[in-house]
Amino acid sequence: HLFSDPAEIQALRGNLLAWYDKSKRDLPWRTLAATEPDADRRAYAVWVSEIMLQQTQVATVIDYYNRWMQKWPTLQALAQASLEEVNELWAGLGYYSRGKRLQEAAKKVVSELAGQMPRTAEDLQKLLPGVGRYTAGAIASISYGQATGVVDGNVVRVLCRLRCIGADSSSPAVTDRLWDMANAVVDRSRPGDFNQAMMELGATVCVPKAPLCGECPVKKQCRARQRKLLGKPTPVPDVENCGKCVGDCPLCPPAAEPWDSSLGVTNFPRKAAKKQPRAARTATCVLERRGCHGAPEYLIVQRPSSGLLAGLWEFPSLPVAQGLQEEKQREVLADHLQAWMGQPVAAGGLQFIGEVVHIFSHIHQTYVVYSLPLDGDVTWDSASSPSRWVTQEEFQASAVSTAMKKVL
Ligand code: SF4
Repeated sequence: HLFSDPAEIQALRGNLLAWYDKSKRDLPWRTLAATEPDADRRAYAVWVSEIMLQQTQVATVIDYYNRWMQKWPTLQALAQASLEEVNELWAGLGYYSRGKRLQEAAKKVVSELAGQMPRTAEDLQKLLPGVGRYTAGAIASISYGQATGVVDGNVVRVLCRLRCIGADSSSPAVTDRLWDMANAVVDRSRPGDFNQAMMELGATVCVPKAPLCGECPVKKQCRARQRKLLGKPTPVPDVENCGKCVGDCPLCPPAAEPWDSSLGVTNFPRKAAKKQPRAARTATCVLERRGCHGAPEYLIVQRPSSGLLAGLWEFPSLPVAQGLQEEKQREVLADHLQAWMGQPVAAGGLQFIGEVVHIFSHIHQTYVVYSLPLDGDVTWDSASSPSRWVTQEEFQASAVSTAMKKVL
């Protein structure tokens, strides 16, 4: 499975880079990385884009990236930002701890590293909070020209297909081999472009469901495609006997799940079944009053500074047990509101509006939404959590999660 033939590696690099030069998508962080003469500024742009791209589609990221770079064009500018500002700009992008850690890391570079970005993948990973192996490799190769590989979801798919790796691609053993391969094949003179080309190939050609093998620049180096065309494993003429592919190969598909010819190249990669997200229920109440010009205003409160959606704003909410009866649910929510408002709240006054389902990475969250129109002002016990009244416009501009926008 591993890359060992120098001529094959050379062909892979050449084909992939030629294709990338011709077909790459125009993305704002790529333009900046290609035109900015200052390596640290390049690194900052790559870093911001890579953090935003984790778990998020390119099309969504572009607008966030442009607004971010306009507001904080340098690491030094970001280090001066408040967490509230970061959360506001990040609102809607999800996985909010990413923005927080990006800003913490910028502060660290300015205050502890004399404003100098670490320049190797090893140092980036070691010194910057929130920068894992992948992001470190991307920054170091794209911005500083370090010949180091990267492995993200797209690269996993491409490598597993190129080398017919059918063992669980999320297992530590396979992950280690994939990193070894990425480091072995990365082009020595254009590592950043090579890495981006691998990811681009996975994003646009070697896609999960219906890969465009006919148009693929590396189809000649692809073992999965050869296997599909031949109908049997590719013979390996130069290796007398690898001794591994006879049932106990740690990279081959498990014997219980052999090659399925109806799947073709999409036999690879294989993943162990995903854990089902845990189901959770939260009762949430939209408290509404008339503002000074008659427009409605809503009370939002801030979540704790750690845990899920840390520091974001939400309507007063309370986790409730699964299967709790509607009546009981209303009562506990009324008690919760009463405790923070310091005035009686009748459960009967809460109007049930409906349910909103939002999927977080590991939680299948149902919000049971109530509304409570108020005549006058109420005071929320701000010792428990900060709160404020906002108009609909202010709500949209606040650091609130996508789930809360759905609730509204
Ligand atoms: Fe992916 Fe097909 Fe290209 Fe192989 S030939 S790398 S499976 S797109």
